[in-house]
Amino acid sequence: MHSKALILDNNPINSELLTEVLSQIDVSSKVLYNPSDFFKTLAEESFDLIFLDVMIPFMDGYKVMEELSKNPVYQNIPVIFLSALAETKNIVKGLELGCYDYITKPYRIEELQAKIKNIIKLKKLQDERECFIETVTHDLKTPVRSEIRAMELLLNGYFGELNQTQTEILSEILNSSNYMFFMLDSILSKHKLDQNKIKLVPVKFNLGELVRDCTKELNILFETKKQSINLCFESQTEEISADYIAIKRILMNLISNAIKFSKEGSMIEVRVFDEGNEVKVSVIDNGIGIAPSELNNIFEYKKDNVKKFKQVGSGLGLYISKKIIALHGGEISVDSSKGKGSVFTISLPKSRVCSEKKEMIYG
Ligand code: ADP
Repeated sequence: MHSKALILDNNPINSELLTEVLSQIDVSSKVLYNPSDFFKTLAEESFDLIFLDVMIPFMDGYKVMEELSKNPVYQNIPVIFLSALAETKNIVKGLELGCYDYITKPYRIEELQAKIKNIIKLKKLQDERECFIETVTHDLKTPVRSEIRAMELLLNGYFGELNQTQTEILSEILNSSNYMFFMLDSILSKHKLDQNKIKLVPVKFNLGELVRDCTKELNILFETKKQSINLCFESQTEEISADYIAIKRILMNLISNAIKFSKEGSMIEVRVFDEGNEVKVSVIDNGIGIAPSELNNIFEYKKDNVKKFKQVGSGLGLYISKKIIALHGGEISVDSSKGKGSVFTISLPKSRVCSEKKEMIYG
């Protein structure tokens, strides 16, 4: 299948040559001569590859790469630097910023074409794998949802009274099915976020009320661990415009983590407050805390989370939270000391309205 590249190079001779080289291997190109329209173009059209020159006026290629890597939406598009700057320090800088390859000019046409073909092949394999995982998780969610609904009806006595043993066994199965549904949903969300396919639907809602609803829904967990919750609302701007379900999922994850990683009988506090142009929610616990070595990459998805997967969860919650908050133009941060407790804070911009947000999210 035909692929499409975005080229940013202020030298028309270079970009024309590259366009010709790419067209010979069935890759079409769009050329931009300066970075001013770069992100607008990326938001309007989809591309399989990006080529950046380093020496471009106004915003050099490295800066463009820096901006690109800040935005999770573009992380699956391979970026290739094509530059006459051939010193090791230039190449290392490009690679450290996260480019897929750094090719120096002048380049050998056949070699470049072979490299590009490989990159496209790898990207297609990766896309197919992502698509497979997405299809399987999506298709599994439907029967699991039906099972949950049927068990809820059974437990509510819709098909007749159950005895105590039947109720207990069915409740256990329902818990497992709910957990399975949550896991499938987390895996699907991760893949959709990584593929830039998540559809956020911004609506206006009251953040304080949402916090209250989340704590009510988690009441059973608080009760099981005999923990108490202190809600502290100090914000003047509790009404925000954001994706309700996505923000709820993040708050539920933060609060249930606070419960999970704190002792029996402890207190958990949730604060909603303003700071400058942002409204913030902090979830504060006095639990086990997080070691400095883990704090650095707590919002990343790591292979060793598979270990935790078997014990306490998927390790996907914070990864998904960070991506979703970033799509809202906000931030998530953590402050924690081992043995003393943790404070997770999400910040959301106050000023954004739905229409602006839609533009940002759907690009
Ligand atoms: P999960 O809890 O499902 O494994 P998360 O992404 O929500 O996934 O959290 C990742 C990891 O971060 C947890 O497994 C835990 O090690 C650590 N963590 C998260 N929240 C807290 C907290 N409040 N206190 C201590 N550790 C935490």
